[in-house]
Amino acid sequence: MKLQFQASLRLLLLASSLTLSLAGCLAAQNSTAPPSSTATPTPPPAATVPAISYSAVHVGGPYIAMTFDDGPSEKLTPELLDLLAKHHIRATFFVIGKNVVEHPGILQRAVREGHEIGNHSWSHPAFGKMSDGRVRAELQKTDDAIRAAIGTGPVIMRPPYGSITARQKKWINAEFGYRTILWDVDPLDWKRPGPSVVTSRIVKETRPGSIILSHDIHAGTIKAMPETFDRLEAKGFKFVTVSELIAMGKPMTPRETGSEGPTPLSSPGVSPVVMPPLTPTPAPTTP
Ligand SMILES: [Zn+2]
Repeated sequence: MKLQFQASLRLLLLASSLTLSLAGCLAAQNSTAPPSSTATPTPPPAATVPAISYSAVHVGGPYIAMTFDDGPSEKLTPELLDLLAKHHIRATFFVIGKNVVEHPGILQRAVREGHEIGNHSWSHPAFGKMSDGRVRAELQKTDDAIRAAIGTGPVIMRPPYGSITARQKKWINAEFGYRTILWDVDPLDWKRPGPSVVTSRIVKETRPGSIILSHDIHAGTIKAMPETFDRLEAKGFKFVTVSELIAMGKPMTPRETGSEGPTPLSSPGVSPVVMPPLTPTPAPTTP
């Protein structure tokens, strides 16, 4: 009796599942199959954590940051400061600790005129292969020198040659409070290609949110700046310091990614803008 019941139940189940699958086949064939509206919702990006490293910033306007590394230079940095003042442009200087100690007055002038100062190490070594202790000493000595010169410490750091590991970025951020600043525009001015080439490379590659790398220790770079500034201004770009650019950064919210379609990263002609990026590492050059 019991066995019989189980057998008929099994038959019943078999029959109904056959019917269901047949119906399913028919439905699939007949319908133009509108995609189910309950399809897997895209998970919100986990990008709400403040970024500790940038090579560009996602901004809502034509803002860019010019950065000048390896100074201050006794002769060239004051020339550059004159040019920046003439154009009412504020820039960011990633300074070498050794040079800060030699020219504290130049740093004081830069700060007085609205520029930002960042740490670029004491003696310009490549952090990537160094012990934590040596990296720490390079940064600390330079932090001390900057504080002694201008009274406040930097909040940003650029590793020489862009050489840094993800692990180093983390502990440097935790210990010094520094964000690691790389770049997305590199005119390779240290190879001294001539002022007009430096200008055309910068003008061609700069996008909203760009961080532009150059050096205030090469005469050709300084010579390139008047035309570079003119042409960037003519394209509508506005110059801010790196920290100001970061403060303008728009994190990609779920709402944004949903309604705006492709993100700036994938839309052609927009920019190599990097969203709160954690590991953008440009190929090491010789900045
Ligand atoms: Zn450098």
